[in-house]
Amino acid sequence: LLGQHGSGKGTLGQQFERTEGYTFISAGDLLRRDAVRRGEEDIASRLAVGQDASEDLTYSLLRESMAQAGPRSVVLDGFPRYARQIELLRRSIDGDPDLAVVLEAPTELLIHRIQTRLVCSGCRAVYGQAVPPAIPGLCDVCGSELIRRPEDTNIGSMIDRQTVWAREGSAILDALADLTRVIRVDASKSPGEVRQAVRAAIANP
Ligand SMILES: [Zn+2]
Repeated sequence: LLGQHGSGKGTLGQQFERTEGYTFISAGDLLRRDAVRRGEEDIASRLAVGQDASEDLTYSLLRESMAQAGPRSVVLDGFPRYARQIELLRRSIDGDPDLAVVLEAPTELLIHRIQTRLVCSGCRAVYGQAVPPAIPGLCDVCGSELIRRPEDTNIGSMIDRQTVWAREGSAILDALADLTRVIRVDASKSPGEVRQAVRAAIANP
C-alpha cells in the first residue's frame, strides 16, 4: 500500500486483515514495537515522528513477520519509503509484490484526516470520522484507550513526510511498475468504497 500520510493505508490494511483473511504488516508499527521491546523508548519516539530506521533492522523485522504470516497473503504498509529500497522489499518478500495499490486524495483532505484521527493505544487500530469507534474514546477491538499518534500532532513531521512522498513517490511507482501491476484508487471515498475498489482489482487482474 502506497500513498501519503493520512491516505488510509492503515485503515485499508486492517480491513483486509479483519475481513479478507490477509496478514497486515505495518513496517512503522513493527519498528516501534521492536524499539519498545528492547527498551529503546527514545528510538521508538523518533520513529513515531516519522524518522527513518536502519534498513538492516527493517529487513530483519519484515522477514520475521513474513515467516509468521506463513502461506497467508500479506498487505504491507510503510515500506518502501524510498525508491532505493525496492531491492530490499524484493528480498524481504522473496520476489515481486502481486499488486501495488496507490491511495490518492487531495492534500487538504489528508491533513484534515490526520488532525481528526485516533489510534488504539493497545492494538494500533485506526479510527476517524469515517470509522468512528462504537464507544467514544475506546477501541472496538480490544477496549483500550484511543490516543492521537505523536506524528499526527507534529506539523513539522507531517510536512516532512509529505515532502518525502512528493519527492520519492513517483520514483517508487515507476520502479514498481516494472515489477508488478500498479493501481490508483481514489482515497477520498469512504473506507468501504476504497476496499471494494481494491477487492475488484485483485479479483480482475
Ligand atoms: Zn485496540
